[in-house]
Amino acid sequence: METYDNEFTNGEIKVTYDPKICIHAEKCAQGLSDVFRTTVIPWIDLDGAESEKIVAQVKKCPSGALQCSYVKQKVAV
Ligand code: SF4
Repeated sequence: METYDNEFTNGEIKVTYDPKICIHAEKCAQGLSDVFRTTVIPWIDLDGAESEKIVAQVKKCPSGALQCSYVKQKVAV
């Protein structure tokens, strides 16, 4: 199975980052600096903001390097 080093999840959403596409405009870091951190590894910390805010910021990525999707929750029966 292929794994991605640039895949992050908080259990609610999954964010992926493709460094080959990123144009380093830093819109993400300027918009949500507690999540998209330029000086720390791993550079994306999904505990830094609510999922809705992260999704909104990912949608502003001009290159499409950031993508996100909601993680399917298992429902207890
Ligand atoms: S907003 Fe997108 S293009 Fe800009 S630095 Fe972040 S990931 Fe790269």
